[in-house]
Amino acid sequence: FTDNLGAITDFGLHFRPDEPALIQHDRTFTYRELDERINRVACGLLAAGIHAGDRVLILWENDIRFVEATLGTIRAGAVAVPVNPNLTEAMHRMHLNDSGAVAVLAGTTAAAHAACFADDERVILAVTADGSQSHMVEHEAWLASSPAQRPEMSSHPEELAWAPYTSGTTGTPKGVKLAHQMLLRDAQLLSQNCYLNPSDRVVLAAPLFHMNAAACGILPMLFVGGSVYILPSFEPATVLRTFAEQRATYSLGVPAMFKLMLSQPDSELARDYSALRLICCGSAPMPPSLIDRLTEVFPNARFVEGYGLTECGPAATMNPLIGPRRNGSIGRPLPGFEARIVDYDGEEVAPGNTGELWLRSPLCTTLGYLGRPDEDARKRKADGWFATGDLAVSDEDGWLYFRGRADDRMNVGGENVYPAEVEAILTRHPQVRDVAVVALPHDTKGQVPVAFIVRETGSDLDEASLREFFFTEGPAYAHPRRIHFLDSLPLSPTGKTDRRSLTRQARDTTP
Ligand code: ATP
Repeated sequence: FTDNLGAITDFGLHFRPDEPALIQHDRTFTYRELDERINRVACGLLAAGIHAGDRVLILWENDIRFVEATLGTIRAGAVAVPVNPNLTEAMHRMHLNDSGAVAVLAGTTAAAHAACFADDERVILAVTADGSQSHMVEHEAWLASSPAQRPEMSSHPEELAWAPYTSGTTGTPKGVKLAHQMLLRDAQLLSQNCYLNPSDRVVLAAPLFHMNAAACGILPMLFVGGSVYILPSFEPATVLRTFAEQRATYSLGVPAMFKLMLSQPDSELARDYSALRLICCGSAPMPPSLIDRLTEVFPNARFVEGYGLTECGPAATMNPLIGPRRNGSIGRPLPGFEARIVDYDGEEVAPGNTGELWLRSPLCTTLGYLGRPDEDARKRKADGWFATGDLAVSDEDGWLYFRGRADDRMNVGGENVYPAEVEAILTRHPQVRDVAVVALPHDTKGQVPVAFIVRETGSDLDEASLREFFFTEGPAYAHPRRIHFLDSLPLSPTGKTDRRSLTRQARDTTP
């Protein structure tokens, strides 16, 4: 019924106009209200002189107004560029330059750095939550002064709609160009794979500026006319309480979030979670033992692990909600996606062999990066293939198994060692709660694995016994040469293990 992302709320608007679309604490927007507010944002941008294709920086924290700012921008035919609002002013300037944004819609957090938006002569409009500075417009007043009618839409499905940034796991986050049709298709694929329907309610605590929460939570839910409950941040006890109070049927997150939920007191874990039927997880490997423990807490929830990346919308492969699955697999390509595993020369390898995962989809691969022609050339291959930079294995039936990032692969005395595999072995130790493995340069071996371990509460596991465990479970050449015990692993803003800081720590502590 639509080929433009700016109309993603239409189903809910027509069939459930007075039902909640977005909820945050004591604030609810019905589909009708949300639609009007999106229109007001769009009309406000157009009135300020924003044209089709112009970029608008979205610097809202986790707030329901993030959604209206983003979808209003898209409805105006402009391009939403959501950015982590908790960054420094220097980073905001970098994003402004990188994206060429001509307007900024900011919440409370980023308003503190607002000077850099207003004194940039390219920025013709800066709206912030409180409009506290003289050259800024206050968000609610701006909306109130704009018409509530839907403006004419001029964008084509293949045009750029949304340009989120990657997590920055391997370097500076990259702005990724996503088209209207790609995000719509992704919302449709996710809602079909997970049987989302208007009675579903998703609780989101993941950062909204990152594509996972937006594309796997907000967009599919608005697409089917369900409701989205937004939490301002990830506080494990609050998330659990909200699941129960809101009778959430769906949630999503990265493994680190679920590990933190499990470390809550028994009283928090014993609430009534019977409504929760679906939890999507991805972004990092999800150990099967973690799913087993979570299933005890959320007895009616089915865990669906998917794999993807910002450049693919992001969901590209997924386990089915219903039917058989294969242990440890990231599933099979979603409809419309093709996957191939290739060697260094780009030649397809046989099932069972590790290689780089390439993906192709006529609708769902990025239009390219913001201002990075070098990355475009490196990742976007001939015939529409996209090189993910991740290593994977396929079995005979096309089920895929994640093996780690190609950049993380280490060469230990001539043997390829994948941190994800060493981590999977160490995770099997009953006293290991969390683990990350990084490579350290070594004089004779080239590189060696170093492990960072978080022990289960009360455990006195020591280096020698964990290493002994590894020798009984895994190949000796891959054993971690050093083991550090930490209280928790450092996380990036999108909840992934911050391997770059662990690598620095491993180097700094080398005798
Ligand atoms: P950057 O591109 O800036 O280095 P990033 O790759 O972390 O950061 P994202 O797009 O946020 O940026 O994340 C995509 C990556 O997340 C994938 O390339 C893959 O490495 C990892 N990932 C996604 N899903 C899974 C999964 N189910 N299991 C393991 N890793 C996953």
